[in-house]
Amino acid sequence: MRLLIVEDERSLNEVLKKRLLLAHYSVDSCFDGQEALDYIRATEYDAIILDIMLPKVDGLSVLARLRSEGKQVPVLLLTAKDSVADKVRGLDAGADDYLVKPFSFDELLARVRALLRKSTPNKANDFRLADLKIDFASHRVTRGEKEISLSSREFAILEYLARNAGQVLTRGQISEHSWSYDYEGGSNIIDVYIRYLRKKIDEDFSPKLIHTVRGVGYILKE
Ligand code: CA
Repeated sequence: MRLLIVEDERSLNEVLKKRLLLAHYSVDSCFDGQEALDYIRATEYDAIILDIMLPKVDGLSVLARLRSEGKQVPVLLLTAKDSVADKVRGLDAGADDYLVKPFSFDELLARVRALLRKSTPNKANDFRLADLKIDFASHRVTRGEKEISLSSREFAILEYLARNAGQVLTRGQISEHSWSYDYEGGSNIIDVYIRYLRKKIDEDFSPKLIHTVRGVGYILKE
C-alpha cells in the first residue's frame, strides 16, 4: 500500500513518514500543495494524508482539484483547528476523514487502515487462499502450519496481489502500489521479487498460488 504525506511542518512530516514506514507502508512525502498535485498526477496512491494549511496551494484546494480530476483516492485531512466550519468545508471538498492536531499516532494509523479498507477490493484485515494466510496488520504469513518470513518489499507485493486476488496485475501496477519513489529498481525488479516470493510461498507447497500471465503480469489464485 502506497501513501502520500503532504505536510509542511518538517518535523511532523518526518515523524509521520518514519512511523508509517515502520507500519510497513510505502511512503512518499512532500511539503507544499503544488508538489502534492505533481505527485498525485504521477502516481496512483492508495491513500493521502493531507494537511490543510500548506504553502503554494492549500490542502482544500489540492483536494478540490484532485476530486475535479475524478481521482477517488481516499484522503485524510489534517488540521490545526478543531472547528466545525473547517470540518464541514473539508468533508464538502471530498475528504474521507479528518484529524485534528495534535493527534495520537495510533489513531492516525487506525484511520489510515480504515481508509485503505474502503478503497481496496479485498477489505478484510486478513486473507486466506487455499492454506495461505496473511494478516495484513501484523504482517504474519503462513502456509499450512509453516510460518513464512518475508522482507518488507516481498510483503508489499504479496499484499497487493492478495488485495486484488483473482485479477491479473501488470508489473507497472504492482510496482506503483508497492514501492515509493525512494526505491528505484530496474524494469525487471518485479520479476526478481516474484521469484523470491514464489520460493517462499509456492516452492514447497501445492497448489501453486502465484501465476504468470504471459505478456501481461501476475495473478494470485488457486
Ligand atoms: Ca501546515
